[in-house]
Amino acid sequence: AAKAAGKGCVRRHGETADAATVRRTRLARDLPDALSRGELRLLYQPVVGVAERRVLGLEALVRWDHPALGEVAPDEFIPLAEDDGLIVPLQRWVLERATAELAVLLEQGRDLQLGVNISARHLQSGSLVPDVSAALARAGVPARRLMLEVTESLFISEPDRGGGDLQTLHDLGCVISLDDFGRGYSTFAYLARLPVDVLKMDREFLAGIEDDERSAALVLSVIELGRRLAIDVVAEGVETPGQLAALRALGCRYLQGFLLGRPTAPADLPAVIDALDADLLDAAVPLTVGT
Ligand code: C2E
Ligand code: MG
Ligand code: MG
Ligand code: MG
Repeated sequence: AAKAAGKGCVRRHGETADAATVRRTRLARDLPDALSRGELRLLYQPVVGVAERRVLGLEALVRWDHPALGEVAPDEFIPLAEDDGLIVPLQRWVLERATAELAVLLEQGRDLQLGVNISARHLQSGSLVPDVSAALARAGVPARRLMLEVTESLFISEPDRGGGDLQTLHDLGCVISLDDFGRGYSTFAYLARLPVDVLKMDREFLAGIEDDERSAALVLSVIELGRRLAIDVVAEGVETPGQLAALRALGCRYLQGFLLGRPTAPADLPAVIDALDADLLDAAVPLTVGT
């Protein structure tokens, strides 16, 4: 963290905290211009179907190319946007851009679903339903192609409002997924009440599944929970062939992670998807071991 302070930062006792504050203050100051200056862009990470042996979907992941600080990750600037009211225009931009970029892929005849991460603040603002509808209409993309990825933090403050709007989006045909499932508080109670189609199992679950029976038992429980509730389970953060083999053995049907595909710029997507699809059909790749 001290290195991240860079030049020009005051160096004294407690410099790490100071550097972090300086950076945060700067990012918060520059964020309002980031949208209008076109400094944001989206990358897309593939989601793979084990049985289908192909790329079924993509997740849109936002990046900020700061002119002086370089690439800034969403975990760093999304909370800043949530603090100062920029999150709704930012999410509108994400929805518009992601659906437009999806439309290009659909026009190529590709059968894909797009996941977009939704901020709790956007849901609470009451404008998520019209914003999603407008983006879909403008891009000419059917609602069933869009998956809205929400986290449980969404429901802690205003369960009714958020739940009602999610139900409306679900009724419109959007797919609803519960992201980072298993991180933080228990989400079980929400699953009974909310229109959840997909669980994205947090990558924390994958630590140790290759050789630790207790870790494997937890993953199996999540997969079994999904099966009983007719909710698809996606394993997030698959990094090693060992994790992939363990997930396959436990019956996990949907996979996402650096092992399968990195977040990718839109211009590279057709080639990346085609190459991954070809690999997945190839009987020699580890995905097919055990089938
Ligand atoms: P997420 O929705 O859980 O997205 C998955 C994150 O895990 C992404 O990080 C992705 O790059 C990373 N990842 C994927 N595969 C692997 C892997 O095999 N190993 C590891 N270690 N990481 C992997 P990223 O792009 O930095 O995004 C972080 C979080 O920021 C996302 O977590 C999501 O909560 C949030 N985010 C991203 N884009 C948006 C957005 O447009 N709007 C909102 N509100 N939040 C966003
Ligand atoms: Mg997500
Ligand atoms: Mg996640
Ligand atoms: Mg997340």
